[in-house]
Amino acid sequence: MEKKTILTGIRPTGNLHLGHYFGTVTNWVKLQNEYETFIEIADVQALTDNFNNPEKVRKNVRELILDLLASGIDREKASIFIQSKIPQIAELTVYYSNLVTIARLERNPTIKTEIAQKKELFGNNGESITYGFLGYPVSQAADITALDGEVIPVGDDQIPLIEQTREIVRKFNSIYGETLKEPEYMLSKTTRIKGLDGNEKMGKSLGNAIYLVDSEEEITKKVMGALTDTNKIKKDDKANPDVCMVYYYHKLVNDDVKTVCEECKNGLRGCVLCKKELINKLNEYLKEFKTRRKYYEDNPELVEEIIKEGTEKALTKAEETIKKVKESMKINYFE
Ligand code: SF4
Repeated sequence: MEKKTILTGIRPTGNLHLGHYFGTVTNWVKLQNEYETFIEIADVQALTDNFNNPEKVRKNVRELILDLLASGIDREKASIFIQSKIPQIAELTVYYSNLVTIARLERNPTIKTEIAQKKELFGNNGESITYGFLGYPVSQAADITALDGEVIPVGDDQIPLIEQTREIVRKFNSIYGETLKEPEYMLSKTTRIKGLDGNEKMGKSLGNAIYLVDSEEEITKKVMGALTDTNKIKKDDKANPDVCMVYYYHKLVNDDVKTVCEECKNGLRGCVLCKKELINKLNEYLKEFKTRRKYYEDNPELVEEIIKEGTEKALTKAEETIKKVKESMKINYFE
């Protein structure tokens, strides 16, 4: 049976942290066994926020690719490609921009939240919000349809973006005739991973992340400063592991988390020892990742070959799509 196509993407905003890894990437590593998988390095999207810092985006593209390969993305099963190397995506974005109103984009719950965050951050009532930023759901519709993406794995906060794509596809098909496939979303089973400070989200800008590339020293420093049950003062104080981030991460990497929980509740373990144990478990867990990453770092030609191969595959799909789209729109001159 022919495999369905999954399209997923990630903005090159920095190295992968535990939040990306447990929240997203481990899921992709599983899905690549069941679907024809395309992973987009969304550099054009990253430029919507970093248009004045292209060096940063460029550096992050390389770092992200190394992190993905080291996490277990397999070239035999998944194609990693760079968004800007597929010009058909930009072309489709222009065509689709006629099919969605500004009001509809502003009402998109994902965009609404991000605009509110930007207003809070920059305090200028949103005057710094660019046309490119507001339009990124349109470019996302172009990403998905260019590659003929049938299934899109998402977190619940991204469902409105997929709905927006589905609307654009329906509108396109109703005006120009049945051409594009309406994608489905697949709600990611994994949850959002909290930060070291207990914040609901782990993120670079929040300064609460553990990165997969962090050295043992960095991990030690970060875990030692993680939020614990603030009511526990002495080693034999009974505590509540459910409010402790150290316990939270033990649950991710420690097979014997039951002991941690019981001993914590009964005042049988101190926080320093508990943190040291977590540091060891994290280092052990990340060993395989780091070995693989070193291998790819030492073989840049291989990494380039993998990306070129993935991008070629994506390009072939996008060329087929744009041909169909232009035929339907009757702009297939001289072809
Ligand atoms: Fe957290 Fe461990 Fe201290 Fe309990 S003993 S509060 S789980 S660090």
